[in-house]
Amino acid sequence: MAGKPSIKRMADLLKSGAVMLSHVCPNCKIPLFKLKTGETLCPSCGTRYYIVADSREETKALVTTTIERLERTIMTKLNTLNDMLGRSTDYNEEMQIVNSLIKWLEALERIERIKRYTKLS
Ligand SMILES: [Zn+2]
Repeated sequence: MAGKPSIKRMADLLKSGAVMLSHVCPNCKIPLFKLKTGETLCPSCGTRYYIVADSREETKALVTTTIERLERTIMTKLNTLNDMLGRSTDYNEEMQIVNSLIKWLEALERIERIKRYTKLS
């Protein structure tokens, strides 16, 4: 018998944006939580679970998380470059920043294409 489920722990998980699932922990018989990080765990015993319908679903889930993370990283880069461009007073530096901006925007375009191709959006 695992430790009794902590209501506070479950409340904290929900507050942090975790989602309660319909699956239950086979040991504790209480609902599993899917964290914002994508991990699924039992709030009582802490066991991590991987709930996937099949390997195709698993691959799609992996592609989705990777693409979304990449998109966020690129957005951060674009923001930084935008700030740099605003501050710059040097033409050559500005052109370098613009070239970087174009490359990141192209990367975003490709991501959109990948999303369409894999029907993620
Ligand atoms: Zn458990």
